[in-house]
Amino acid sequence: METVRDLLDDKGRDVHTVPQSCTVFDAIRLMDERNIGAVIVVGSDGRMTGILTERDYARKVILRDRSSRATPVTDIMTREVVIVRPESLVEEAMAIMTRKRCRHLPVVENGELCGLISIGDVVKALIHEQEFMIDQLEHYIAGSL
Ligand code: AMP
Repeated sequence: METVRDLLDDKGRDVHTVPQSCTVFDAIRLMDERNIGAVIVVGSDGRMTGILTERDYARKVILRDRSSRATPVTDIMTREVVIVRPESLVEEAMAIMTRKRCRHLPVVENGELCGLISIGDVVKALIHEQEFMIDQLEHYIAGSL
């Protein structure tokens, strides 16, 4: 069974972060440049203080007629960040995302941020795992005929 560490080995460990002083506009611009849906907000010590996703922008800026250039990320980020550990199974990460209703999970090992996985990464890994199992079963059945 694939772990979150295996998944990171495939997709890489880059995590895009912004400082707490960053505006929502600059955070969304970074998401656009990097083709991602979430950024981690970090304090001056580099530690994670929150997470900001496109959904926060849609709900807390657009819907409320706020200006993204005048709103700091700290106004709309989620401060209680749910994390996953590298040794967790990908299935467990999927269960956390479903239970917590979020599509992004920072990966933390020994208190350090070491990756970020999205629901897209998780679905891709699970499909790959199932394809592998189907392939194995087909070989098994073909071999036993
Ligand atoms: P998402 O589905 O990931 O776009 O996020 C939906 C909401 O959950 C937004 O308000 C995010 O700030 C928040 N969120 C996303 N990921 C996490 C996480 N790992 N921990 C806590 N909140 C999160």
